[in-house]
Formats: sequence, C-alpha cells, structure tokens
Amino acid sequence: MKLAVIGFGAATIGLLRALHNSAHEIHIFEQAVDIYSSSVSGIRADGKLFVSSGMGGELELSLEQQQEVVEYYLSKANVERSRIEYGNSFGNKGSFKKFYERGFEPVLSEYWHIGTDELKNVLSNIYAEFLEFSNVHFHFSSQIRDISEKEDKIFLNGSQEGFDRLIIAAGRTGHKLVNNLIPRHPHLVLENTKVDLGIRFELPNHIVEHLNKEMYEFKIRLRTETGYTVRTFCNNPAGFVVLEKYDDFVTVNGHSKLQDKSDNTNFALLVSHTFTEPFNNPVGYGSYIAKLANILAGGEKAILQTYGDFKRTKRSKHLGRVKPTLSSDNYILGDLNLAIPGKTRQALTEFIETLDEIVPGVAYSDNLMYGMEIKFYSNKLSNEHPLIKFIGDCSGWTRSITYATGHGMQLGKELLEEK
Ligand SMILES: Cc1cc2nc3c(=O)[nH]c(=O)nc-3n(C[C@H](O)[C@H](O)[C@H](O)COP(=O)(O)OP(=O)(O)OC[C@H]3O[C@@H](n4cnc5c(N)ncnc54)[C@H](O)[C@@H]3O)c2cc1C
Repeated sequence: MKLAVIGFGAATIGLLRALHNSAHEIHIFEQAVDIYSSSVSGIRADGKLFVSSGMGGELELSLEQQQEVVEYYLSKANVERSRIEYGNSFGNKGSFKKFYERGFEPVLSEYWHIGTDELKNVLSNIYAEFLEFSNVHFHFSSQIRDISEKEDKIFLNGSQEGFDRLIIAAGRTGHKLVNNLIPRHPHLVLENTKVDLGIRFELPNHIVEHLNKEMYEFKIRLRTETGYTVRTFCNNPAGFVVLEKYDDFVTVNGHSKLQDKSDNTNFALLVSHTFTEPFNNPVGYGSYIAKLANILAGGEKAILQTYGDFKRTKRSKHLGRVKPTLSSDNYILGDLNLAIPGKTRQALTEFIETLDEIVPGVAYSDNLMYGMEIKFYSNKLSNEHPLIKFIGDCSGWTRSITYATGHGMQLGKELLEEK
C-alpha cells in the first residue's frame, strides 16, 4: 500500500519502527524544514520519558510496552546511559504517605530525562536509521492544508498523487488541519469537553531539591474546594521557562537541559476543566484566555507576577529574590488575576498553600508565576474511517512521547497485516 503520513513526531517514529522494513511505500510530509526545526514538542525540547499507568494517555499500553519505547529512545543517545537523569515518582512509601495524608493523589511513575541538548543527537540517530530504508520517503517543508477523498484514494493539497491510506500524526500543532476535516466526518469525534488552564510556577532549586533528587518529577493531584482538580505537570529541575508559540497567541512552557543548568526549578500547575452541553469548544475557550493574557501583556509575551502579588491581586512592579529564567524580552510584569477565571484562581491558590505545608517555601511571596499555560486536549477521535487514521496527540488519545510512540507502533502493527 502507498501510505501518506502527516507529521514527523513521536507517533510517526513509533509507526516507522513497525513499518520501516515492510512492503508499504511510506511518504512522510512534515511542515518543518528539517527534523530539528518543527514547533517545540517533547521530542525537540526536554525529552522526559516516563513509564506510568497514571498519566500520558488513555490507550491500553502496558508498562512493559512503555518501557520498550523508553529503551528505544535511550539507545539512540550518544551519551552513556549512566548520564541520563532518572527519577522514581513516589516509589518511596514514606513520601507517598506524606502527600496522601494531606489530601494529594501521588502519581506513580519512572522518569528518564534526556535533555534538550542531547535530544538532538537522539533525533538525528533515529532519522539516520529510517533513511536507510528505501520504502521510507521524507518530504520536509510540506505543510498539508487540504485533504480530499475520491473513491478509495486520498489526495493532499490538491495533488494528483493518490494514497491508499492517510495517517494523521500532526500532534497538537496540527489542530487546524484536524479541525478542518471534522465537519466532513463529525461522527469520528468521540469526546470534546476538556481543557487545562494554569500557570508555570518557578522557585529556587533548594526549596524542592530533595524532591527533584528523589523523584526528578513529583506528580500530584489535589481536588480543591472549588471542585476543580489541580495537578503538577512537567517539573524541570534547574530548568528554564520558555514561550510556546501558536499561530495567533503564545503560552508558556518549561524545559531543562542535560548540561546547562539554572538556579530554579519550574513546573506547571494546571486546573482541569471539563464542560458539559451545550459547550463544545474547549480549544476556543482556552485560546480566548491565552489571547486575553497576550492582550494584557501588550503582545506575544507572558505575564510574570510574584506569588505574593498574585495573592494580593496587585500587579507586580518589582521582582524579589527569584530571578526569572525566561528572557526579559519575553515577559512583562503584570497581574494574572485579570486573565484567570475566579474559580481557577482560587483552585491554584489552594493548591500552592496546601503544598507549602509539606514543602515549606513553595508559597514564598517571591516565587514566580508565568501565564498562561494551557493544555489543549485534542478531540478524542475514532479510527473507524477506512482510509484515514489518527495517531499521537492529534487523536486525543495520547499526551506524551511514550504514549504517542506506542500509539504509532500499534497502528503500524495493524497496517502490517494489510497488504
Ligand atoms: C514544550 C513541550 C515539551 C514537552 N515535553 C515533553 C516531555 O518532556 N515528555 C513527554 O512525554 N511529552 C512532552 N511533551 C508532549 C509530547 O511532545 C507529545 O505528547 C508528543 O510529542 C506527541 O507526539 P505526536 O507525534 O503526536 O506530535 P509531535 O511530536 O508534536 O509531532 C507532530 C509533527 O507534525 C507536524 N505537523 C503539524 N501539522 C502539520 C501539517 N499540517 N503538515 C505537516 N506537518 C505538520 C509538526 O511540525 C510536528 O513535527 C511536550 C510538549 C511540549 C509542547
């Protein structure tokens, strides 16, 4: 079969692992100019691999299958295995109990952190491996905007070249492409109700050093009095805060490197919002809030505020002892209270104050909050269309490198059985 694949990210890596040596002719269309230049995602920044049944996706992917994915990526690094940072979140019963007793739900997970710098080598080694197969063809600088179907063939961007199957692996940045397709196939949408709103929190390493050492990433959830659940996400010991650029707004994110370290740790605090009918546009809701924050920042910048000012609902005019790792061109000092909905704000404050009881110093007034950080959940999509399949984050079933890669492998194995 002749297959078209949109996007070269984690899901496509999984797909190619299953199919690279098969009889299928595979064409990968990637909008970026090369493997490194795509929009930021976990296989180009940070590269934290985890094995957990409590997060990362809703696919059936056993811990053994996840471990196999992790081993694959680690085997592609140029540095020795012993140099890859490792953590075990809540493997220690004492820590588990301490957090549990204060109302938190600790999430069990193992982590391997490759780092933004070493990730380049990993990606380059993976790419070199796939290039050796004559049935795999890469087409960079090929953004797919238009998908059409005629009889049993798929056509891309109005070209005459027909494909037997289309695999969409366009990640979160591919939401426009997927959204354009949905009106023609509305029955493929299984769920569309969620968005996570929050901020990036940054504090000096020494406050969370013991947690960073023990777990690398401490993953906890708290059901707050508002009814909203707040969770930590993407902890970056000695890391850096960055902007995440979308087509028409920016949000914040974080990462860390293997070599170059900062004095601060950052992590996201995310408040999960699940809406009910007639609401059907979580991406619209999240985008509006991100844009509102950008308007307040006077353009595509983050709003930065100290936690003390946030609590007092005062615009920050000065910073205290914690020096931001985001470059000063990319933020303005402001008041996040003007962008964050009231209930979400209350949930965030309750989380920070409760965490401070177990980790003293988390609620210091000098600690920093950057906004907005938003996690869009793609529509959860069905793969029942005979010609078009979705894998990875754009399918709504995955939210991590491990799960997206595993999803690609699962579809690859199914396609192996087809002639
Ligand atoms: C800043 C950041 C850091 C992250 N860190 C981690 C982490 O440390 N660990 C972790 O497990 N997860 C992390 N994640 C999440 C993780 O990156 C994703 O879950 C995973 O990469 C999803 O894989 P994917 O193949 O679905 O999408 P991606 O890896 O995002 O790949 C999608 C590809 O499709 C291309 N594309 C999109 N639209 C088109 C189009 N129309 N035409 C052609 N090409 C297109 C994109 O350029 C991209 O290369 C992070 C995400 C972000 C944004």
